[in-house]
Amino acid sequence: MVVSSPLFDINQLNIEQQKKFDTVYNELKSKHTSYLQYKFNLPLKTQFDSEQEENEWRYELHRFLRARKWNVTHTIKSLVEMIQWRIDNNVDSILEHAPMSSRMELLGKVVPNAQHGYTKAHRPLYIEKSGLIHVNKILKMFTSEDLVQCHIYWLEYYCQLARERSRQLGKHVETFAMITDLHGCKLNLRKVLPLFKQSLYIDENYYPERLGQMLIINPPAIFPTLWNLVKHWFDPVTKTKIIVIKKGPGTSTLLLQHIDSDQLPREYGGTCNSCSTAPNCIPVYDWGKDTADDKQEEQEEQEGLEGQEEQKGLEGQEEQEEHKEQNE
Ligand SMILES: [Zn+2]
Repeated sequence: MVVSSPLFDINQLNIEQQKKFDTVYNELKSKHTSYLQYKFNLPLKTQFDSEQEENEWRYELHRFLRARKWNVTHTIKSLVEMIQWRIDNNVDSILEHAPMSSRMELLGKVVPNAQHGYTKAHRPLYIEKSGLIHVNKILKMFTSEDLVQCHIYWLEYYCQLARERSRQLGKHVETFAMITDLHGCKLNLRKVLPLFKQSLYIDENYYPERLGQMLIINPPAIFPTLWNLVKHWFDPVTKTKIIVIKKGPGTSTLLLQHIDSDQLPREYGGTCNSCSTAPNCIPVYDWGKDTADDKQEEQEEQEGLEGQEEQKGLEGQEEQEEHKEQNE
């Protein structure tokens, strides 16, 4: 049984990259030492191993260098900001903060999700039924500050899983993967887009190169509309990691190219048997009557929206007609 992650090997870099790595490393040495001291003084339950922390730091530098296209100045600036952000937001103790775990549990009731095994590339796999998100409930039950904290908790949790996986395998794993199931998605998802944007900002600034793959499945007819709203928010490299799988019988074939059958829920074409709730691997909380209220609300919104769009369509037509007149 392997107990430590493999050591970062600088020889995997070319000579020019090695020089840049050393420059960043040396420049931040004292900053990192005081950050380690800060972490060491936190009342954490997990044991602090300075050698492992040092090794993780080298991988972190490598991720930031890649994300900042090997620009030394940008990398140093980003890393300094990241350290300060972690201290300011108590990120290093978030997984041990008891109120956070109950908040995450509550969030699971409005955002059906599960950590579900690993992909073929050993990435911890997160599956979210984003199409079944209770948008109105989220906005009623959580402040945007709460939701940002949940997102940070989620990121830290998946970084930890990747680190544990590295130890189990004796092979470096630093990314995670997600399946975003949009089945049932409605346009009111737009209401949480500002939060989504905020989350992306955190991902790209403080957790670069952590998303290994995002598989979007069951995109609804309104998907292009939603995608047009968000596509500019993604970093170009992150965008290359997103695969949108068209609705249909080919979905499971494609998923099985990336995920072994026993790691995939049966509803997606896998054979998972290890979840206590299998075959329903992703728990969907039953809100009973509340859901009926929500549906009513959503229905009203949808109708309102369609009305608006018709209106817009008419205006568009008027504009066109005006335009025609002018041309004549
Ligand atoms: Zn399962």
